[in-house]
Amino acid sequence: MPDQGTSFGLPVVLRQELLVLLIEDNLGDALLIKALLDEVAGNPVCIEHVTSLEAGLARVVETGFDAVITDLHLPDSEGVDTLRQLFTVAESVPIVVMTHCENNPFALDLLKHGAQDYLVKGQSDGPLIIKTIRYAIERKEADQHFAYLSHYDKLTGLANRELFRDRLQQAMARAERNHRLVALLFLDLDRFKSVNDTLGHLAGDELLVQVAGRLKTCVRKADTIARLGGDEFTVILEGLEDPGDAEVVCRKIIDTLADPLVVQSHEIYVTTSIGVTFFPSDDQELVGLLRNADAAMYRAKEEGRNKYHLFTADLSARAVNRMGIESALRHAVERDELYLCYQPKVHVETGQILGAEALLRWNNPQRGLVSPAEFIPVAEETGLIVPIGEWVLRRACVDALRWQQLGFGEISVAVNLSPRQFRHGDLPTMVRSVLDEVGMAPDLLDLEITESLLMDDTEASQISLNELKQLGLRIYLDDFGTGYSSLAYLKKFPIDGLKIDRSFIRDLPGDSDDEAITRAILALSQALRLRVVAEGVENEFQLEFLRQASCDVVQGFYFAQPLAFEHFVGWLRCNTKHASSVVRWPLAG
Ligand code: C2E
Ligand code: MG
Ligand code: MG
Repeated sequence: MPDQGTSFGLPVVLRQELLVLLIEDNLGDALLIKALLDEVAGNPVCIEHVTSLEAGLARVVETGFDAVITDLHLPDSEGVDTLRQLFTVAESVPIVVMTHCENNPFALDLLKHGAQDYLVKGQSDGPLIIKTIRYAIERKEADQHFAYLSHYDKLTGLANRELFRDRLQQAMARAERNHRLVALLFLDLDRFKSVNDTLGHLAGDELLVQVAGRLKTCVRKADTIARLGGDEFTVILEGLEDPGDAEVVCRKIIDTLADPLVVQSHEIYVTTSIGVTFFPSDDQELVGLLRNADAAMYRAKEEGRNKYHLFTADLSARAVNRMGIESALRHAVERDELYLCYQPKVHVETGQILGAEALLRWNNPQRGLVSPAEFIPVAEETGLIVPIGEWVLRRACVDALRWQQLGFGEISVAVNLSPRQFRHGDLPTMVRSVLDEVGMAPDLLDLEITESLLMDDTEASQISLNELKQLGLRIYLDDFGTGYSSLAYLKKFPIDGLKIDRSFIRDLPGDSDDEAITRAILALSQALRLRVVAEGVENEFQLEFLRQASCDVVQGFYFAQPLAFEHFVGWLRCNTKHASSVVRWPLAG
């Protein structure tokens, strides 16, 4: 350590002397304190005395006192107000209050208002005064440390949610005064979850710290960056003249994060989706601004991630609708508003009903029938898909057993799974216990997963899929052709079959691209020994094309719409030969 200039080589900060400001209008009391201190051998306290709060405030601003001792009855200030004013000009200085009697509830109240300790007039001696000052200093340090902890995110050192709200409120007030804009950026890292799941929480933490560091390089010192929790960050940009200024920062953030991060010697590419909203143009209230920025961020994600999106009013309507869906959906299971429809999967050559896909329906008294396209994404984002998904699985298994009991033979049931269900808890164990509980053979269950699962968190989902597979059920890749459609995935994961997305079937026969794609998928599946189901078959021409292209199994409105349990049973009665589940031609419709 370099010599700090004291004769004993000790740094100056360790000096023993305590510089204390005494604010006391009663000269007798002031002299008494000085005298009491002087009696103590080696008295470390050096007192400076003023007689009014005004003078005291001026001195506190000019000089860095170690502590302030103040009387409560001053000519220019009374009680709590004295503390408040001192606190405003010198937030970090410890304050000792002088009162007339002990156990004064008023004195205790003062402690709550920021004083660190109090001395009772006429009952203090020198050592006690010194002890009290020392204690006040220590306590102030502890308070400030605690204040730090309660305002900053421990992991990244960025502002936390509370401080962020405070800063945003202040920024809004300043912007109103000087007629400038405030931009609020809401960031969410894309696929952060997969890093956490595959490399572990420590790696995830390290990644967040590095991201925080890079974010700091994108904004000015005066701007606030906060971590609201998880992988959600906010940025407050102040004093903007033009919304374009915020877009420049967004682009900078996206570019800065484009270089790979090295975490535990893995190269990791993070991207972020950013939603942007402006005060005062988009909303006057903090809550509204947050909601806007969040909605804009979701739009950015929908647009394909690694993007920013500026808030527009139409997003607000969507956000409100989303919130309405979310709160209604929370009660949907307990209020019995969910039910399943079934759509048969038919074997092209034999006409055998191989199985039925369970498709979730939500009938809400206020909203009517809500489309899965509308509520499933909300259920996924909120995590509600986890309990709902378990409900779907159980219901579907129970229903499949009933088809058997009703004499339709072995009709397997296919259940759709969301990626989110894989990330939450132990999916294989959940599936196994449902099967056990219901008493269903696993080979009667198909699970339909989407490609995004395979793309998002490779290793963790691979483990879960292998465990599921070992239970003895079958796994289908749904909506094949719409996503990445990578061959590598098909080999890497334990997939039994593919479902060709209905967008390729729609224009068959006739559309040469779709014909080629469908043929290619079928050829590929044969080579890889995968089963194929063509979705969305609506007419006999499509069916004929698929038959000639040697597609095994078809599903679609041509055979049946998704039907609620009773209707599905009715359909089976009308359209299959007695005591078996082979379709009788022509269909009864
Ligand atoms: P998906 O798994 O690809 O389901 C097939 C969708 O195609 C269903 O839409 C079905 O009604 C529709 N469809 C079937 N045949 C035809 C046809 O011939 N023509 C046309 N145009 N459409 C047909 P739905 O029921 O609206 O479900 C939409 C999506 O919602 C499903 O797509 C699936 O991804 C998701 N979903 C449904 N139920 C569940 C569930 O229980 N859990 C999860 N995680 N997702 C579900
Ligand atoms: Mg499906
Ligand atoms: Mg599908």
